Amino acid sequence: MGHYCRICGRSRPNEKFTRKGHRNHICKDCAKMPKEEKESIEQEEEIFNYLRQSNISQKNISRLKKLVDSDDSKIAELAVTVLEVALVKPHKKRRLKILAKERRDLLIKLEETGLIVAHGGF
Ligand SMILES: [Zn+2]
Repeated sequence: MGHYCRICGRSRPNEKFTRKGHRNHICKDCAKMPKEEKESIEQEEEIFNYLRQSNISQKNISRLKKLVDSDDSKIAELAVTVLEVALVKPHKKRRLKILAKERRDLLIKLEETGLIVAHGGF
């Protein structure tokens, strides 16, 4: 069956994982990646996950405020987009409708960054 690697997103055979990697869901190949690169993938996943949640909490918002300052411009852009969305409408319900009415710019950004896929349709 193998084991899921949360970095490359593949299901890989067990021998591709160290004991520690198995626990952390990181395969041997991904474990060798530079730290910044790994962090970037993890943070991107983290930001996408906020949109999958039914609500973006105050705690999530504080975390996003930190990610906005990331040296990684892609992470910073994703974080600023989700942060603005969270400030307009933290709850997922009716979020896209409200954005379509009040913040079309944010809706467009969600589409451009691919974040809309994490959110799901109307
Ligand atoms: Zn991997």
